[in-house]
Amino acid sequence: MNWELFLWATGLGFLWCQIITHYSVSVGLHRYFAHGQFRTSKIHEWGFIIGILIACVRTPIGWVASHRMHHADTEGPLDPHNWKAIGKWKVATTTWTIPKIPIKFAKDLYDNPRLVWAHNNWKTFLLHIGQCVCLYLHTSGGVQPLCHSCLRR
Ligand SMILES: [Zn+2]
Repeated sequence: MNWELFLWATGLGFLWCQIITHYSVSVGLHRYFAHGQFRTSKIHEWGFIIGILIACVRTPIGWVASHRMHHADTEGPLDPHNWKAIGKWKVATTTWTIPKIPIKFAKDLYDNPRLVWAHNNWKTFLLHIGQCVCLYLHTSGGVQPLCHSCLRR
């Protein structure tokens, strides 16, 4: 196995994935879906949603609603990631939970069928992405050289 090529391909793939997912989350999820700061096409929305799901944000509707709660009462009792209330560790590791999201923060989001699809299918989508990666490695012959290189005595 050509380790130099493998490392370059892995590094560039990781970098490309970071660019796509950061663009989808920062521009799409935050600026577009949460704050409505610009208009775009349905195709671009789908691109945002695919990138958002690959970034493992879970449900985009949940993220947007919780972010709107954060803006409505920053560092207050309604803010779901108020570090003073839940601690810095939960904020840093994004392990905070929201017992209840008032519908006023998400009502308009349910009018977008693409967001509703992502909300209902994010787990299945991630499962299929994982299956596609495994299938690709098997069908492309990627498993054999990788395992032989790693498991060689
Ligand atoms: Zn914001």
